[in-house]
Amino acid sequence: MLRFDIITIFPEFFRTVFDFGIVRRARAAGLVEIAAHDLRAWTTDKHKVVDDRPFGGGDGMVLKPEPLCAAVEALTGAHEARELAGTKTRVVLLSPQGRVFEQKVAAELAEAERIVLICGRYEGVDERVVETCVTDELSIGDYVLSGGEPAAVVVVDATVRLLPGALGSETSAVNESFNAGLLDCPHYTRPVEYSGRRVPEVLLSGHHAEIARWRRREALRKTARNRPDLLQQATLDEQERTWLAEFDKEQ
Ligand code: SAM
Repeated sequence: MLRFDIITIFPEFFRTVFDFGIVRRARAAGLVEIAAHDLRAWTTDKHKVVDDRPFGGGDGMVLKPEPLCAAVEALTGAHEARELAGTKTRVVLLSPQGRVFEQKVAAELAEAERIVLICGRYEGVDERVVETCVTDELSIGDYVLSGGEPAAVVVVDATVRLLPGALGSETSAVNESFNAGLLDCPHYTRPVEYSGRRVPEVLLSGHHAEIARWRRREALRKTARNRPDLLQQATLDEQERTWLAEFDKEQ
């Protein structure tokens, strides 16, 4: 069982977002628990202040360290992130300055038992939060969101898919984009002909070996076209390298 605790100033954001599809089923099956917590619960002043102006001047506000670190301590029992070394608990700050959250990071997180996700807002969080109570800083991509909440949803969803039993069949994730270093192949369903375009004949043939070969080839074609950077890391056999050369010529 994996448990996510999300620290946010907008807990209502998460009211229904995990009530759909695979995440809903995984929750119902007891594979994952997800709770959103209001950061203001860990303030000690009358006005429940969670932010303040940045030292050195400049626009915007910064989330204060005390409520954030108090929240992490209450949820993990650890005062500092280094106490969590060697445990199955991670404290993740969502931040555009973090390591990029890729499929392999999702697979790492799926091994944890407890993940605290901290959602920043405004100009971000006081850097001492990063220095003391965070085990990982993760970015969902090279763009700036208004807050960490959408990023938390992305991290939860991508991680939950990788929990054993979360997908319909144990092998479902194996063929998905990124797991084998390539993008997924194109998929088709009925009707056989749509807008003058037919489904590739091989997919109608019932010949499983030929279908598998076609899928691998088309996954490679799509990766070469849309994400050639992934090919640098992919392990390709001789046949696959020949296909790549053919795609080059076709272009
Ligand atoms: N001043 C920050 C910067 O330029 O790096 C941007 C702060 S952003 C407006 C507010 C919050 O949104 C961040 O603290 C973070 O929690 C979240 N956020 C924004 N972009 C993100 C991204 N690409 N990945 C993860 N979280 C992000």
